[in-house]
Formats: sequence, C-alpha cells, structure tokens
Amino acid sequence: MAEENGRRRWQLVLVASPLQGHMTPMLQLGTYLQSKGFSITIAHPEFNSLDTFNHPDFIFLPLPDNLSGPGSFTSFLGFLQALNNNCKPHLREHLVQIMTEESVVIIYDILMVFGGSVAVDLGLPSIIMNCSSTAFFPAYQIIPQLHQEGRFPVHDSLLDEIVPELKPFRYKDLPFIDLPTEDATESAKMITPATPPSAFIWNTLEFLEPSALTQIRQQYQVPIFTIGPLHKTAPARSTSFLEEDTSCITWLDKQKPKSVIYVSLGSMANLDKNVATEMAWGLVNSNQPFLWVVRPGSVHGYEWFEFLQEGLVDKIKVRGLIVKWAPQKEVLAHNAVGGFWSHCGWNSTLESVSEGVPMLCQPFSVDQLMNARYLSHFWKIGIEIIVEKTEIEDAIRRLLVDKEMKQRAIEVQKNVEHALNHGGSSHNALKDLEEFILSL
Ligand code: UDP
Repeated sequence: MAEENGRRRWQLVLVASPLQGHMTPMLQLGTYLQSKGFSITIAHPEFNSLDTFNHPDFIFLPLPDNLSGPGSFTSFLGFLQALNNNCKPHLREHLVQIMTEESVVIIYDILMVFGGSVAVDLGLPSIIMNCSSTAFFPAYQIIPQLHQEGRFPVHDSLLDEIVPELKPFRYKDLPFIDLPTEDATESAKMITPATPPSAFIWNTLEFLEPSALTQIRQQYQVPIFTIGPLHKTAPARSTSFLEEDTSCITWLDKQKPKSVIYVSLGSMANLDKNVATEMAWGLVNSNQPFLWVVRPGSVHGYEWFEFLQEGLVDKIKVRGLIVKWAPQKEVLAHNAVGGFWSHCGWNSTLESVSEGVPMLCQPFSVDQLMNARYLSHFWKIGIEIIVEKTEIEDAIRRLLVDKEMKQRAIEVQKNVEHALNHGGSSHNALKDLEEFILSL
C-alpha cells in the first residue's frame, strides 16, 4: 500500500455525469477535497468534452461511452441507461488496477449508478453525490407508491393539490409528472440505491430544506453531508463547456445598481420560437436593462437569435444585451443585477440565493418545478411565471421593486454566509466529510 508522510494515499474517484449542471459541482467538490490532500480522479463519460487544462491537479479518466449525447435517444432515461451500461466496464477495469496500491473511495453522481454497483462488486466504500435539491430524492422515490395507490399518472383534478407526503409541493411540481408511467417507475428504481452507500453528499444547505433532510435521514441511517453551496465552499476554475462571454461584465459596469434583469435558462432547456419571442417582448416592454443568455441552438430550428424580427432586435439593442453564454456566478454577484429570470436549475438557484438576487421562475422539467415552488412559496423570493399567460413586463417590474421580497432574499443570503462561516452548518459538514473519508 503506497504511503505519503506515513499516511495511506487516498485516491478519490469521482464519477461525474456529463451534464453541465452535474459536472460543475463535482469539479468543485474535487477542488475542495484536493485542497485537503486527497488525490482526485475524475472519471467521466467521453462524449462531453471537458477542458482538463483548467484542472491540472486532477487525473482525468475518460470512460468510453459510444454516445454522442441525449439528443440521439427518444427518452432521457434511455440515454442514462446506455451511458451507465457503456461506462461501467472501463471504470471497473481501472479500479481493479489501482486498488491494490491505494485506498480508493468512489464518489459517484446519483445519475451514474454504475459507480455504486462497481463499488459493491469490488468491496469499495462509496458516497453518492447529489447535485439537485434534497427534496428531489423523496419525490422520485415515492413514484411506485403513488402508482400503486392510483395517484400516478396524476389526474387533472389533483394537479393543484399538495402531495401530503411532500409538503409544500403540489402534484404538478413533481419531477416526473410528464413521464410515461413505465419511465417514471424505472427512473425511481434507477436512482434508489440497491445497497445503501457509505454516505450521501448534498449540494444544499440545512436551513433551506429542513423537512426533506429529516425525511432522508429517517430513511437512511448513513451520514448525510450538506456542504453547499459548492460554488462558494470550493470555487473551481471555469467549469463551463461553452466559452464564457466576459464582455457582458463591462456592459454591467455601465448599468445602475440593481437595475438589470439577468435571463438564462441553463444548459439544457430548449424553447419554441413563439415563447422566445414573447420573452423578448416582455423584456423590451419592461423598459429595464437586461442581459439575456440565448444559448446557441436553444430555440428550435435556429442557430442563435435569428428568430427575432429586425425591428425587435433594434428595440432590444436600446437596453439589452444578448450573449451566448455568460460567466453566470460573476454576473449574479454584480451590483447592477437586480433580478434573475431563470429556469430554476439547482445550481442557478443556489447561485442566485447566495447573492441575494430574487428570481422570476420559469421551470421546464425535472427538479426545476420543485425548485420554483421552493422559491415562490417556501422561501418566498421568487415569482412563478408562465410565459404564454403572465404579463411579463409587470412581473419584471414587480421583481425589481418588491422591497419585502428583496429583504427576504438578503436574509437568505446572510443565512448562506452564516452556514459557510466557521461553525456554520456547511463549514462543519465539509470538515465532517473529510474526517469521514479518512475513517473509511
Ligand atoms: N451557466 C453559466 N453561464 C450561462 C448559463 C449558465 O455559467 O450563461 C452555468 C450556471 O452558473 C450553472 C449551470 O450553468 O452553474 C447551469 O446549471 P443549472 O443546474 O442551473 O441548470 P441546468 O443547466 O443543469 O439545467
């Protein structure tokens, strides 16, 4: 067994999902653990090219996947199943080679379930890394029960009702609401570990999700480390798959404090031309400055923003700026930004609440529906919108002028800071995680 300074050498193998919203927190976690002296290997499916140059201290282990991305599958579940099947043999082979020399711990993304089965096969300790809210997990696990009791598929009359087991979430907030029954139950089976892991890591904070965390702790008698928000606890160098357009920071420097609405729908959401055009009109009519990320290819049938008519583009140029991809964390921390119009991905949500920026919530699917509910009805720092139905310009103005909401957003921000400071919950959880790994 190799030793360093009299200590066994710890090799942490982080099995990362190729999705942007999962890869980022995994790299941040690796950055933190590496700063504590652990060797880090990032095992990742090959298809999404990672800029390894930004992380010179990690070992990267590309896992051959024979895939080109979720686009070539009829369902996301099908994509995940293929990814898991194809990547497993190579990970196993690698671990067999290194485990005689080093103490190996596998930390695997909840979607990369092959990490867990390889760990069980080889008798290695494993920790599940969750990149979504904690509430997302019981919401998935309850699917078989809902199905058995005739509550799934969800009848229209139930949609606005609260799910008694999942307060404050309604049936229509459930992450699997639009999936066929078979896919939903299969997904639930997939993310429920057959053998409990040694521990769970959650990129969340204790004060944000007390009841979901209590629920999980009752269900699993293993440690749960709530170490979020990882972009603050362990800021990594750029983790973006797309190039960040930093010119928008210079543009923000010229705007008045708290005047700008920042619009971004994350790395995966796609829109119809009509919805995107409605968004453009709402932004223009609000008469507020805005920074809008239109990800190339995110509007069906268009490369970028050619779907906007010329006259509308001229109006946008008066107060707005469109970019392909922004340095989002820097944007949200900028004093000019007063509100964030978001799809409510979990990273975007954490990045916004950490800066005290209230949100317009336009969730699309999966956990975004629950995050939007948290924002609008539990933390009360967001306004839910449906682009086709909401008066967008009113919602934008309300978001920027509502003093009570702003105040609540600042309180949440302070609680996040408190959790990160010495003795705070996230600070302690990180120290506990480190000790736990050493004890394995
Ligand atoms: N992001 C970014 N620039 C952009 C848009 C998004 O850096 O222009 C980052 C954002 O900071 C976040 C991630 O992309 O860390 C998106 O993750 P999230 O969980 O919010 O949504 P997803 O992309 O998984 O739907």
